[in-house]
Amino acid sequence: SAKASGSNQWAYFKPQMTQKAAIRLRTEASLHYALKNDEFLLHFQPKVDIKTGKIVSCEALIRWFKDGQLISPLSFIPVAEDTGIIIDIGRWVIEQSCKVIRDWQRRYNYAIPIAINVSPLQFLDQGLVADIKQAALRYQVPAEMLEIEITETALMEDIESAITKLHQLRNEGFGIAVDDFGTGYSSLSYLRRLPITTMKIDRCFVSDLPEESAIASTILILGQQLGLKIVAEGIENERQLAWLQTQGCQIGQGFYFSHPLPIERFEATYLAKQETTKQESKLEYS
Ligand code: C2E
Ligand code: MG
Ligand code: MG
Ligand code: MG
Repeated sequence: SAKASGSNQWAYFKPQMTQKAAIRLRTEASLHYALKNDEFLLHFQPKVDIKTGKIVSCEALIRWFKDGQLISPLSFIPVAEDTGIIIDIGRWVIEQSCKVIRDWQRRYNYAIPIAINVSPLQFLDQGLVADIKQAALRYQVPAEMLEIEITETALMEDIESAITKLHQLRNEGFGIAVDDFGTGYSSLSYLRRLPITTMKIDRCFVSDLPEESAIASTILILGQQLGLKIVAEGIENERQLAWLQTQGCQIGQGFYFSHPLPIERFEATYLAKQETTKQESKLEYS
C-alpha cells in the first residue's frame, strides 16, 4: 500500500475523504512548495495619525501569489495554522519585514515601523521571541520599529504564559497590539496585566459609526484609561473618521486612507514623497 511505502500519502487515497479535506491536503502541500519557491509577498497598509493625516506606521499583510493569482490570507492562514506550517510562514514574515525596514532606511534614509500579525499557534511557539530578536539584530532594526499584532483570543488561550512572553517582547522594546479587539473573549481583569502598547478596535465596531457607537466608545474609553494607543480598523468613510476624531482616537487604518498596497506602490506613495519633502525642506532652510 501507499502507507507501507513510507510516506503519509495514504490519506490521499481514502475513499471516504471529504472534498474539503482533500483541498486542505493539497493546500498544505502547496504551502510548503510556496515557501520554498518564494510565492509569498507582503502588502502594506498605512496607519494614519487621525489629527494630522500623516502616516505613522503600517501593517504588513501577507498574500500568496499562486498560479498568477493573489490569494487572500483568510483562505490559507487557517490551513497553515492547522498544519503548523504557520510557524515557518511567520518566520518568513518577520524576516521579510525586518529586511524591508532595513531597505527603507538605506534607500530613503527614513523608515516607518511595521506591524506584523502573529497567529495563535505562532504565539505559542517557544522560539518566537528569539526569532524576532535575531531577525531585528540581523537587519539592525531597532525594536521600536516592530510591533506585534495578536488577537485577544490568542492571548487568553494560556494567559500566564502569554503574560510572560509579552513581557519578554516588551523588555526587548517591541510594541504589542491587541488585534480585532472586542471580537474575542477578553477577560477585563487580565487586560490590566498584559503589557500591551496598542489596542485595535475591530472594524465591525467602526463600520456602523456614527449611528451605532456604544461599543466603539467603550473600547476607546477603556484603552484611554489603560494608557494605550488606540487604532481604529476598517475606516471607510469621512463620517466614521469624523466621529473617531471627536472621540480622541489617535490612529486610523482603512480603505478611506488606503487599501493595503504592493510594496512598490507603498514606497512611491509614502516613502519617496517623504524623501522629497525632506530634501525640499533642506533646500528651503539651508
Ligand atoms: P487583520 O490583521 O485584522 O488585518 C486587517 C484586514 O482588514 C486586512 O485583510 C485588511 O486588508 C482589511 N482591511 C483594512 N482596511 C479595511 C477597510 O477599510 N474595510 C475592509 N472591509 N477591510 C479592511 P487581509 O489582508 O485580507 O488579512 C486578513 C487577516 O489575515 C488579517 O486580519 C490577519 O488576521 C491575517 N493575516 C494577514 N497577514 C498575516 C500574516 O502575515 N500572518 C498571520 N499570521 N496572519 C495574517
Ligand atoms: Mg492585524
Ligand atoms: Mg484586525
Ligand atoms: Mg482580523
